[in-house]
Amino acid sequence: MTSPEAGLFELPDRYLELQAEARALASSVAGIAAEADESDSVHPEVRARLAASGLAAVTVPAEFGGRFARVDSLAVTVVREVLAGVSAHLDSVFAMQGIGSYPIVAGGSDVVRKRWLPAVAGCEAIAALALTEPEVGSDLKAITTSISEQDGDLIVTGHKSFITNAGDADLYTVLCREGDQYSLILVPADTQGITVTRPHQIIAPHVLGDVAFDGVRVPADHRVGEPGEGFRLTLATLATFRVSVAGAALGVAQAALDEALRHTTGRTQFGVPLARLGPVPSLLALSWTEIEMARSLTYRAAAAAARDPQASLHLSSMAKVGATEVTGRVVDRAVQVMGRFGLVRGSLIERLYREARPMRIYEGSTEVILDSLARQLVKRHGTSQQGSQA
Ligand SMILES: Cc1cc2nc3c(=O)[nH]c(=O)nc-3n(C[C@H](O)[C@H](O)[C@H](O)COP(=O)(O)OP(=O)(O)OC[C@H]3O[C@@H](n4cnc5c(N)ncnc54)[C@H](O)[C@@H]3O)c2cc1C
Repeated sequence: MTSPEAGLFELPDRYLELQAEARALASSVAGIAAEADESDSVHPEVRARLAASGLAAVTVPAEFGGRFARVDSLAVTVVREVLAGVSAHLDSVFAMQGIGSYPIVAGGSDVVRKRWLPAVAGCEAIAALALTEPEVGSDLKAITTSISEQDGDLIVTGHKSFITNAGDADLYTVLCREGDQYSLILVPADTQGITVTRPHQIIAPHVLGDVAFDGVRVPADHRVGEPGEGFRLTLATLATFRVSVAGAALGVAQAALDEALRHTTGRTQFGVPLARLGPVPSLLALSWTEIEMARSLTYRAAAAAARDPQASLHLSSMAKVGATEVTGRVVDRAVQVMGRFGLVRGSLIERLYREARPMRIYEGSTEVILDSLARQLVKRHGTSQQGSQA
């Protein structure tokens, strides 16, 4: 029988097939998820299973060993929703293959595309994107890491901070200042002059580190895009991948709701299951409602981004804010309805509670995105007012 949701809002078959592949991968990792999610370096077994699944190829175009002709935001989002519901670490390793390599897809030289992209698609090389610096987060125009030319090579000097996969990455795509412009450059991790440290541990363990570039020399064909195209290519990367953070957030939210249901239907207080007691049912139903609302917007935004990422960036941004904020509320409610059992260190719900938190900060914090959306909103309003007065 056709499900009531089928029809206009059903995912096309190729995404359903992908979802089934992602579920198979996620369930193969489930037994080591708790250990992998506490790891501060790429977990070798998780990496091996991702490689064997062939799913990392979703993050690279077919021309370079990838799955689809172009990197498809809906495909990435669907996969991340499934993976993040089981292991934040698995989701992060998968997603970073795309986020770290997309600038090379969009602007790399033939030499570096052929050298690196098939290796990223097969998980033989781990990718990283280095934008943030110790003193610079949201305000990326204030970066100080620089590129200069010397004898036909490019020299990179500076310090990047909070870089996912630092230390385990094989390549860093680095945003730099070049004179009064901004440019991107690919730096292989084994280049002389790179030092990785891991000064920070965060509440939800993550492969994170600082990367210092001390006069690192790379050939000129490692430039990504033209000089001055750093922000254009960074924006193109965000436009393609931002909505997938919403997918990952939904995976975490759904897992938290499932865990809250397991607990509240199984535990009795005052002679009834918790799930029928006082405000608990409405808290559960509110989480379900918010997850479905966020999922509708996320899939819509991801489908739009798969067609035209730049034109639909406002929708991707709304989905990222909407889904990550919903997830924050859902995990908090889940802890509340589980009482003291929601607070136990090492429990699934405690892990999900911690994992939900950084999502509202990285790849554009909620407030930074809302500020940008508000500017667009006011601009659109001004344009429509002018139109109606003309
Ligand atoms: C788990 C994790 C992984 C990360 N991985 C990477 C990575 O791989 N590569 C990389 O380059 N970076 C990475 N980062 C860094 C991340 O991109 C930054 O944390 C993010 O850009 C925010 O910068 P910040 O933390 O310095 O916050 P700040 O810029 O100091 O901002 C702090 C807060 O101030 C407010 N705020 C700031 N600016 C504005 C504004 N214009 N309008 C309204 N409010 C504002 C917001 O509430 C914001 O959360 C990662 C971070 C985390 C937590």
